[in-house]
Amino acid sequence: MKRRITCIECPKGCSLSVDIENCRVVKIDRNECPKGEKYAISEVENPVRVLTATVLTRGLSLNMIPVKTDSPIPKGRISDAMKEIRKTEIAGDVNIGDIIIEDLLGLGVNLIATRGAKR
Ligand code: SF4
Repeated sequence: MKRRITCIECPKGCSLSVDIENCRVVKIDRNECPKGEKYAISEVENPVRVLTATVLTRGLSLNMIPVKTDSPIPKGRISDAMKEIRKTEIAGDVNIGDIIIEDLLGLGVNLIATRGAKR
């Protein structure tokens, strides 16, 4: 199978041509540097994303606090991560960078606040 993937490692945005067999990359063309090769392999074989979301609060100046993972997580775990986030509520003062969920889903990644709020 052939797939086109736009490399997002730099503003050039090379349109990579990727040959895939059994979910593995076997050939990459049209990358202008080695970063494109790494990106295509990761995107096909183990795609990851930084997850951004909001968490409900109780009794704070904001009803929702924006959050994000401090590292990318596997794309296939985003739905499970969202279920965990929806179960979470923040009741105390929160500052930017505070850990809201430690070791999210055992992935070794923390969910952190990207905005603070007080009672
Ligand atoms: S392949 Fe290299 S030059 Fe092309 S977008 Fe990716 S990082 Fe940039």
